[in-house]
Amino acid sequence: MPGFEIFGDEERREVNEVLETGVLFRYGFDAARKDRWKAKTFEKELCRITGAKFAHLCSSGTAALSTALAACGIGAGDEVIVPPFTFVATFEAVLNAGAVPVFSEIDDTLCLDPDAIEDVLTPRTKAVMPVHMCGAMAQIDAIKDLCDRKGLILLEDACQALGATFNGKSLGRFGRMGCFSFDPVKTITCGEGGGVITDDKELYVRADAYADHGHDHIGTDRGAEDHILLGTNYRISELNAAVGVAQIRKLDHILSLQRANKKALKDALSGFDGVSFRRIPDVEGDSATFLSFFLPDEARARQIAKSLAENGVDGCFYWYDNNWHYIRKWHHLKSLKAAARLPAQLADNLRDYSHIELPGSDSVMSRCISMLIKLSWTQDDLASRIESMRKAFKS
Ligand SMILES: *Cc1c(COP(=O)(O)O)cnc(C)c1O
Repeated sequence: MPGFEIFGDEERREVNEVLETGVLFRYGFDAARKDRWKAKTFEKELCRITGAKFAHLCSSGTAALSTALAACGIGAGDEVIVPPFTFVATFEAVLNAGAVPVFSEIDDTLCLDPDAIEDVLTPRTKAVMPVHMCGAMAQIDAIKDLCDRKGLILLEDACQALGATFNGKSLGRFGRMGCFSFDPVKTITCGEGGGVITDDKELYVRADAYADHGHDHIGTDRGAEDHILLGTNYRISELNAAVGVAQIRKLDHILSLQRANKKALKDALSGFDGVSFRRIPDVEGDSATFLSFFLPDEARARQIAKSLAENGVDGCFYWYDNNWHYIRKWHHLKSLKAAARLPAQLADNLRDYSHIELPGSDSVMSRCISMLIKLSWTQDDLASRIESMRKAFKS
């Protein structure tokens, strides 16, 4: 699954080029850096891979989400619709913007159900933020249609889905902005890092400024930069960006390995009793980081998850019990355990998260198991894994 599996000389070479100049910062020091611009190069590669006109790197995927929300003008009093199956960063970024996360049902795509979104719309709904979970896409065309009809901003959390496409178009390009993460368990990694993409020049300029204290980045050597808005520091370091440059150039290779390995496991699993698969709106566009499947009911799913572990089939996730990715165990959200007192206006607007009922999502997630797809598996590894899976299903 993650790029760290194939970390090698290419990454070391890029990092060394930065260490040789000693310019670890992405801006300025124009003479000393000897024309080495790793963050800029990574951004160009991100545009090439996704087809987006503009890309801006940030210090993390979470920072990218916050930057996108800010660039789109989403803030105090606004409601943002998010799924209950994601990583906690999605709703953290919304709260950090002073906005209210509103959870809406997912369906068997493991992503927001477009039909359910209408039920949670209010006059305060400003944006919809689908999350393309586990490397594959939401029904992004239907979600985009809804946003267009209702005049809502579409922002995509594609943090887990670099390289995935829908009808040939990169995820992250359907919304006004799309966000990616390059943390250590994502498709490619640079240690810590994230990126926003957009085709909208004005949004790009705002994102680029917001993530560096509002600086306009006009001119050379940071000589006479002005502040175009109030920002913060979500800058990526040049060292991290250097790793990313090497990693993103391996993306096609990573995707083809993942797709082949996933196909072998899926073919085997298709023959097992009671198994059905996650619905993927465009199978061709799946980045294949995970294989997700359903059992007929919660009891059987729990039993199979346990049995897979007992038979040594590693890297399987029963998300329904997982406190990183599913709302059921987000106790800190339910009790709104903030580090400091929340701004009064936000506190007044927030929902009672301890009593959110999402029966549709519960029914999907309680039957779901995901298996991560490794790059390093050999044919023998795959064969013995399939054999162990067969044993697990016989029990
Ligand atoms: C990883 C992830 C993020 C946050 O990325 P970081 O780089 O770890 O901050 C956001 N959303 C989703 C869905 C993720 O999986």
